[in-house]
Amino acid sequence: MKLVSLNPATEDVVGEVPVTPVDAIADVVATARAAFGAWRDLGAAPRAERLAGAGQGLLDRAEELAALLTAEMGKPKKEALGEVRSCGKGLLKEAAEMAEALAPEHLEDARTKTTLYRDPYGVCVAITPWNYPMSMPHWLVTPALVAGNTVVMKPSEETPLVAQAWFDIVAPHLPEGVLQIVHGDGEQGRALVAADVDLVAFTGSKEVGASILAAAGDGLKRVLLELGGKDPLVVLDDADLDKAARFAARNSFRNAGQVCVSTERIYVAQSVHDAFVSKLVDEARGMTVGDGAEEGTDVGPMINARQRAKVVEQVRSAQVAGAKLVAGQPEGDGNFLQPMVLTHVDHSMDLMRSETFGPVAAVQAFDTPDEAVQLANDTPFGLGAVVFGGDDARDVARRLDAGMVGVNRGVGGAAGSPWVGAKQSGYGFHSGRHGHRQFAQVRIVSEPA
Ligand code: NAD
Repeated sequence: MKLVSLNPATEDVVGEVPVTPVDAIADVVATARAAFGAWRDLGAAPRAERLAGAGQGLLDRAEELAALLTAEMGKPKKEALGEVRSCGKGLLKEAAEMAEALAPEHLEDARTKTTLYRDPYGVCVAITPWNYPMSMPHWLVTPALVAGNTVVMKPSEETPLVAQAWFDIVAPHLPEGVLQIVHGDGEQGRALVAADVDLVAFTGSKEVGASILAAAGDGLKRVLLELGGKDPLVVLDDADLDKAARFAARNSFRNAGQVCVSTERIYVAQSVHDAFVSKLVDEARGMTVGDGAEEGTDVGPMINARQRAKVVEQVRSAQVAGAKLVAGQPEGDGNFLQPMVLTHVDHSMDLMRSETFGPVAAVQAFDTPDEAVQLANDTPFGLGAVVFGGDDARDVARRLDAGMVGVNRGVGGAAGSPWVGAKQSGYGFHSGRHGHRQFAQVRIVSEPA
């Protein structure tokens, strides 16, 4: 059976891969298990060196890979190129940092000398989504490998070709069986979680994450989950409104809103609400929707008709409940959607409660910063949150219940920061020294001092 990959802008066939039969998965996992001992014994620094070798391969072919990424997933080519390059640079530089993060530590008191080791778990399965089709496998597979696990990657059924291209460049740098790829959908994902694996690293929706956690419970398999978000942006009355509106537009509509940390709920101080909305509407109307392969496109297509229909339904049902659409319309050709801004929203609407994976920004006014904090935290999600404002912004930021909070900027941290979700947006995390260590089992060996 074949998995056929379609271009979401043109609906042309981009290519195909063979689907891995579910009954072949036990053998794939057995191969990974057989390769584990030698890979573990190699040591973290030599493992990192091998991966660094693959980084140059990605950079050398960055333009070609970015064109494939745009064709298969739809994002504008500049953003696709940025994604490929960051994976290449990541392998070149971060693999060594990952190895350093795993170095043994020595502890000692009057009676005992202890060495703390960070050892691999064994076989890791990495299951990933389509919205950053190269970064997502890269972020999970690389630290798992450097930590000494062997890995079976299962990319999204929407973007198998980009993942296959990444695999084809990385796998030749590794011993046979250390990295394998399985193609398919939830069926293959479920079979992998149920197979004889030790660690499941997953990025995707909250619902699938919860089902993986339940399925992994039987064998008490280790699980790392990076899940969806419903990120708030709080705009205080003394915020720089131009900057806040520019940020809101970029972060709500980038990647056609198909970003886990996209700004979905915007809470604005009543006194500046109308001025902010008018600036945001101008920004939204200034964005060009089109095929990501074309020069000047800001907002590409939605990944498929099903995702597009979900977003349209959320917007329409909010309108029926009283929301006003002040920019864009939930209509248009093919898989495309214009950037939309809604006002007069409230938390009774699905639009303000469930993840919206599309180019939609919903704006609600607040009277006091306390009310803004209460509204922002009124969600089971806790991935990112952003505050724009003056002196009080930092205090508001500390009260927001999210893993990553930005003040007068987006949520990404300085180099070395983890990518981390709180509440139901994450269960474990990756990146940065603390994230790299999550792919390893801590053990201690002690002896008399
Ligand atoms: P999804 O959860 O539908 O699918 C993710 C992956 O899981 C796919 O490879 C899919 O085939 C597989 N899968 C589906 N059912 C499974 C099952 N029962 N068992 C095992 N595997 C299964 O998500 P998606 O639509 O591909 O991606 C969008 C979601 O990903 C959004 O919720 C988004 O917020 C989230 N996301 C989170 C982050 C983060 O860093 N927190 C980053 C990117 C995307």
